[in-house]
Amino acid sequence: MPSASDHSAAGTTASGTTASGTAAAGTTADAVVVGGGTVGAWCAYFLRRSGLARVVLVEKRTLGQGASSRAAGVVRTQGGSPWAVRLGEWSRRFYLSQHDELGIDSGFTPQGYVIPCFTEADVTAAQQRLAMQNSLGLNVRWLEPGQLDALNPTLAPGRTLGGTYCAEDGYLTPPRNVTAYAVALAVSGVDVRERVSFTGLDVTGGAVTGVQTSAGPIAAPLVVLTGGPEIAEVAGLAGIRVPAGGVRHQVAVTEPHPGLDPSRVPMIFDLSAGLYWRPEEGGLLFGMSNPQEPPGVAACVDEPYLALMRRRLAELVPVTAGLGLSRLWSATIDFTPDHLPIIGPALAGGDAIAGVTVASAGGAGMMWGPGVARAAADVALTGTSEVVDVTDLGLDRFDADGRSRLGTDPIALPFPEAVHQGGGEQGGGEQGGGEQGGGEQGGGEQAADREPADSSR
Ligand SMILES: Cc1cc2nc3c(=O)[nH]c(=O)nc-3n(C[C@H](O)[C@H](O)[C@H](O)COP(=O)(O)OP(=O)(O)OC[C@H]3O[C@@H](n4cnc5c(N)ncnc54)[C@H](O)[C@@H]3O)c2cc1C
Repeated sequence: MPSASDHSAAGTTASGTTASGTAAAGTTADAVVVGGGTVGAWCAYFLRRSGLARVVLVEKRTLGQGASSRAAGVVRTQGGSPWAVRLGEWSRRFYLSQHDELGIDSGFTPQGYVIPCFTEADVTAAQQRLAMQNSLGLNVRWLEPGQLDALNPTLAPGRTLGGTYCAEDGYLTPPRNVTAYAVALAVSGVDVRERVSFTGLDVTGGAVTGVQTSAGPIAAPLVVLTGGPEIAEVAGLAGIRVPAGGVRHQVAVTEPHPGLDPSRVPMIFDLSAGLYWRPEEGGLLFGMSNPQEPPGVAACVDEPYLALMRRRLAELVPVTAGLGLSRLWSATIDFTPDHLPIIGPALAGGDAIAGVTVASAGGAGMMWGPGVARAAADVALTGTSEVVDVTDLGLDRFDADGRSRLGTDPIALPFPEAVHQGGGEQGGGEQGGGEQGGGEQGGGEQAADREPADSSR
């Protein structure tokens, strides 16, 4: 990977001609990236580092104010498909390389990650995944029940039939990732325009010639559209249909407890329930979406559902029962119908708009974000990528109803099956220092009788 200062090709456009120096400053670019989340920002950085002289990033709010600053930070290479494994592994390696490259990093901590099995069917599926992951070079291994319990002294003993473990998986600090990409954008010379909204594309003869924004047009032969939970709305402004949605996801952090020392707490994904947890500041950070909740913008915490999450967590990690919460928030997470990323050309009416690439991490932007960003930059520049085989990851995998022809990635949060196509502001309900039951109630009452899936196991 070249260093951040390696801009030997700077001054040339994607087509190899000299970058335009004649047009009015600020109205012409070699590439425009829409969205200043982790996907758009790292993509803009990679485009700049690939040699484009003038890369403009337009962000309608401020950098990181979408999903990217609100995430839980889980970085899991133990994916359920080869795409997931490759994107996760590329991103993990990128996080490890950041300090050398940029002098700052996203706070990646290789904590180790366990996916426990509770049924024989779980074991069969896990063994098959393990074989696939090992064949792709991942250092994942099987833990027998006793080994799993020994590795996790906080876990209620005797509950599992074993599980898979990857010591190299870990977590990052989402706000620090925003800081890291803000630094990357600055040192690489990306022209960042905050509080500027993308409003449409300029297209001539089937090829993009630029974008329209709330601050005027920018001419460019390459455009990358991102938007996280709002990608459908962003693309819709250009007549491009993207079957992706947003839904409430909530995360909480328990107060510290001596039993939750990070040396005793590998990260865990209770796949059957859709609940995950990891160490955070001496307590446990845990998160989950309600799969039965309709898509939409997260406006507040769903207290009854939080109580169900806490109950499942306490079943498996008894020391958390009765602990207070130091932090609690809900925010809108992005998702795709097959839980896989979207990386490919923009399609309008079935035809590609030359020069426009769409990129979504499908709700896994911490674990896949840099990989998706690098692949999107590669696709924009060359039509292909060495990060991951993007042949099947484009919009053409979805039918008119948004159904994917690919199988659903089995290692994902339980998102709603439908996607929403409506508008709306990115929401986030945050309650610093909120105790369980002490926060907002709106929107949560319908969830009182919902259980996390299979929570009895
Ligand atoms: C609570 C929560 C926990 C999560 N935990 C994890 C986790 O542990 N691990 C994991 O891998 N992933 C996690 N995710 C998912 C992850 O955060 C997202 O997949 C990722 O942040 C998406 O990045 P993005 O850049 O695509 O979108 P965003 O970060 O949402 O960025 C999109 C940007 O586009 C901007 N935008 C929208 N419309 C326009 C417009 N018209 N013009 C210009 N700009 C526009 C928005 O303002 C926004 O800043 C979590 C998400 C949430 C909400």
